[in-house]
Amino acid sequence: MDVANVVRETTLGGNRGADLGRFLALLDGLAAFAGDDTAQVYAVCDRSLLTDGRLTREERQTLTGWHRAGLLAVWDVADHPIIQAAEATTAQVVTYDGFVDFHRRHPWLYGNRDRFVEPFPGPGGTVSVRRRIMPEPEDWQMSRKEEESALMAAGLYDRRDGTGPRTELLLRRWRCPEPDCPAFGPAAPGTLPKRQGRGGRVVCPEHLTELTDLGRRPRQMQLKVRVDGTVRHRFLVTEGQDLAVGRHPRAEPGERLLPWLPERSPARSWISRDHALLRVSGTRLLVSDTSTNGTRIRLPDGRTHRVPTGGFRAVGRRDAVLLHDTVRLEVSGRSFFYEERAEGEPAHRPLPGNTGEAQQRTMLAPPPPRSGGGRGKQPGAGRKRRRR
Ligand SMILES: [Zn+2]
Repeated sequence: MDVANVVRETTLGGNRGADLGRFLALLDGLAAFAGDDTAQVYAVCDRSLLTDGRLTREERQTLTGWHRAGLLAVWDVADHPIIQAAEATTAQVVTYDGFVDFHRRHPWLYGNRDRFVEPFPGPGGTVSVRRRIMPEPEDWQMSRKEEESALMAAGLYDRRDGTGPRTELLLRRWRCPEPDCPAFGPAAPGTLPKRQGRGGRVVCPEHLTELTDLGRRPRQMQLKVRVDGTVRHRFLVTEGQDLAVGRHPRAEPGERLLPWLPERSPARSWISRDHALLRVSGTRLLVSDTSTNGTRIRLPDGRTHRVPTGGFRAVGRRDAVLLHDTVRLEVSGRSFFYEERAEGEPAHRPLPGNTGEAQQRTMLAPPPPRSGGGRGKQPGAGRKRRRR
């Protein structure tokens, strides 16, 4: 059980942002759900819960006491271990988290129907439990969540105060004083800087030296080339550099698609050498048709529009640019945080199975040792303590 997840879930009753009473009520709910008053839970939480100022001092002391007694496992970043533990055991996981960033590595999570349960408010202030179906995220949603996790690990994403990714850092280019730095050297493209300390110093993740700000980074968007339904290739479009895309573009810079087109595919003769021109403008991707056979935009609802020759047309995040019926370009979720907010898209809309604050994640731990004479409710036991 993800204790922080539950304690911070305001829909479970109480007025405070964090309330240990929700967890205690959930223990009763779990016993009822399992039809077993002796049902046991392995309680885990992330470290921030122990110092969460929205808990009372007494509640924090209780949590610390449980932790010291081995009844509560505490982890810094525990997303991956909780999934690994769930994979290795047959235990049910109590959480609201959709673990969308782990679906690629652990495909069993996708749409899972029997391993996850979630609490919900029951009658008269009680907390009940129900099965939950794990999300079936689309590719761009997984990419975005993976990106978010990478940013959080680098201290560049603030989930607690709702400001989201620290775009101002991501949108700048940085230089490390170490000449051969693989991350921020002269020859390096620049990856994710790290923010350190209360002052928010921006440092090299490799050398921990302060980085020099070289100015605004041109925006980039990553595009996927999907051929016959499968993503074959990805490439970047950079602001200020219109990119020709086609079978074998003459224009510079150009993205050559020929290697990704199957031997006998009609797309090989259908797609022009210079088929379309792509442009990043602000936070949007634009496309212009330069082909013989035309370029179309396919909307999420399945309708398609022909791109007029000579003009640029905006491509929505969930649209596809069709060069042929079997060859489409899609904007990848991977580039999301470098773009600032896409027009009309909320900054960080919760993904399926995630609820804003309740996203604080913890992990499932190996069973803590049972303590003998605990008083009152504790993790490790349901309503009644099992007698041995
Ligand atoms: Zn460095």
